[in-house]
Amino acid sequence: MPNTDQNKLAIVTGGGSGIGLAITEKFIEHDITTIIIGRDEKKLEAAKNRFGKLCKPVAFDLNELSGIPDLIEKLSSEFGQINILVNNAGINLKKEFTEVTDKEFQKIILTNVSAMFALSREVSKKMIQNGKGSIINISSMASQYGLPKVIAYTASKSAIEGMTRAMAVELSPKGIRVNCIAPGFIATDMSAKALNNDKERKERVLSRTPMGMLGEPSDIGDAALFLAMDSAKYITGVILPVDGGNSVGF
Ligand code: NDP
Repeated sequence: MPNTDQNKLAIVTGGGSGIGLAITEKFIEHDITTIIIGRDEKKLEAAKNRFGKLCKPVAFDLNELSGIPDLIEKLSSEFGQINILVNNAGINLKKEFTEVTDKEFQKIILTNVSAMFALSREVSKKMIQNGKGSIINISSMASQYGLPKVIAYTASKSAIEGMTRAMAVELSPKGIRVNCIAPGFIATDMSAKALNNDKERKERVLSRTPMGMLGEPSDIGDAALFLAMDSAKYITGVILPVDGGNSVGF
């Protein structure tokens, strides 16, 4: 039987806003039923209203790690085989290194790393039963080079790139491809918080981005769609910068 991209089911964490919303839009344009997970029911409902019946909003706080196995059981029995997982949900904290408290550090790690781990583990169990799947993690330029004032975020995104490689070697023999997108600076609420009141940082970002502009959320959506589909069926374990050249900029 030829591989087919028909009737796929995806989970996109943080699918109600920013980059996750753009990934959801691309998936739905390609007839992929997409479960979007977030905490803010209003954002999820707005996405549902915009995208229609292929969009399945699920309000859930991924910091509640102990609830993740039940959540995946429930979603699998309700919607069937999960083909794609995009670990996109993430939080940032911009603060001087010496001012960051242990609690703040752990909060970032909890959302960006521990929740991503627990969710990937539970979804992988299902994908292994099916012998097929695609997992896409989202890292950041913070794991490509040193960025000041984002120590916890940097730790979390560096972990995600390492975990991508570790997951790829364990899961690829079982039919699951695991890849990562490293977005450059993309115009969303998160980057606005980090850049809009910091003219110097924004100028530096743009000056070292050969393409000279911020990316659009849809640029990440296109890359995620490519990695999710069978067109990328021989690609696993890669970290793909989608950054206008920022990671190689001088
Ligand atoms: P947003 O703040 O717009 O989106 C983050 C999403 O994560 C929200 O939809 C939020 O949903 C969800 N989320 C956060 N915490 C939780 C939680 N505990 N449980 C469930 N959902 C949660 O940011 P972006 O779209 O910019 O970022 C998306 C990803 O891309 C992040 O991983 C970020 O680190 C990464 N990235 C972004 C870049 C940029 O320039 N914008 C650059 C590099 C990486 P809700 O509020 O409903 O909980």
